[in-house]
Amino acid sequence: MKHIYLDHAAATPLDSRVFDAMLPYLTDQFYNPSATYLAARSVRHAVDDARARVAAVLAVRPREVVFTAGATEANNLAIHGVMAKFPEATILVTAIEHDSVLVPAQQYDCKTIPVKEDGRVSLDTVRGMLADDVVMVSAMYVNNETGSVQDIVGISKLIKKERARRKEHGNPLPLYLHTDAAQAPNYHSVHPHKLGVDMMSLNGGKIYGPKQSGALYITTGVEIEPLMYGGGQEFGLRSGTENVANIIGFSAALEQAAGQQLAEYIRMTQLWSLFMTELKQNIPKASITSKTPGNIMHITIPGIDNERVMMELDERGIQCAVGSACSASNDEPSHVLRALGMTEAEAQTSLRFSMGRTTTKDDVLTTIQALREILHV
Ligand code: PLP
Repeated sequence: MKHIYLDHAAATPLDSRVFDAMLPYLTDQFYNPSATYLAARSVRHAVDDARARVAAVLAVRPREVVFTAGATEANNLAIHGVMAKFPEATILVTAIEHDSVLVPAQQYDCKTIPVKEDGRVSLDTVRGMLADDVVMVSAMYVNNETGSVQDIVGISKLIKKERARRKEHGNPLPLYLHTDAAQAPNYHSVHPHKLGVDMMSLNGGKIYGPKQSGALYITTGVEIEPLMYGGGQEFGLRSGTENVANIIGFSAALEQAAGQQLAEYIRMTQLWSLFMTELKQNIPKASITSKTPGNIMHITIPGIDNERVMMELDERGIQCAVGSACSASNDEPSHVLRALGMTEAEAQTSLRFSMGRTTTKDDVLTTIQALREILHV
């Protein structure tokens, strides 16, 4: 049976070129990069080189890249890092953030920015919420459940205006913009300066790199507290002996994602359109939650039990997700779907198909055909 993997928003396979780049650091190049003999210095050099490569993709300074164990850690570092300095201040987050943003933010004075049906915030609403005590706004770039793409540039312009206003009024509180870009680099450019963000989280496990790899970009001048204290690695922001193989793997994966970005974006939007057209034709009662063409196709089919349909697809070799695959417990109705105005019952009729590098037109057509058979339409 041919397997059709349509859960790339949850995990991507490790690219063989990435694996090849990592392999020496899992075997004979095992040295601690902080050691001082020649062999260890060459491992230190590899880490520095990986940082320079990531910085080149992002068009930032290497000193602004802190390697982390994935996006959960990067998000926590950004939020706790800033809020530890300003514990009385307010943080704004959009209603559709990943739990690794929402949960740390909720430990402070956190206000939620609602989103419209398309998953984007209204800039007027954001403007109205930028009170004098807001120190940070966290708005995710690409949503992992529906694929909606946030207007980060628009939010950043508002923040710049608010900073200027604060300066004029003598309000010394800084105002930072953070974006969780875990799902972005395969299809979207991730240039912090173009986006206008001060901090950005990245995740190797979603870009054909190793799991538990990633980075937090922190622009020069933003001072944050570390989550962990110890040996002072990663500019004192992420103590602990570096996971060299994962760092190398992450940098290789990010470079490759950036190199294929435009071609993959075009291919993905074509597959997305095919999926949409075929779905409308063959299963007319289905409706599409995803409003932005891309690799994520989130749908609801009234009357279905999504768990059952997902399992029947699995039996036919098609792997997809119900709700958010990021949360360890799927019992809770997705806060993202609720934020988009979906009832709990509607959310339970939803399926997410997330396509990737190996997805073909045939895979899309086979999936629609399988849905027809399972639903008897
Ligand atoms: N942010 C987003 C948008 C995600 O999709 C995910 C994982 O799916 C994460 C953060 C967390 O990533 P990780 O669990 O690899 O740390």
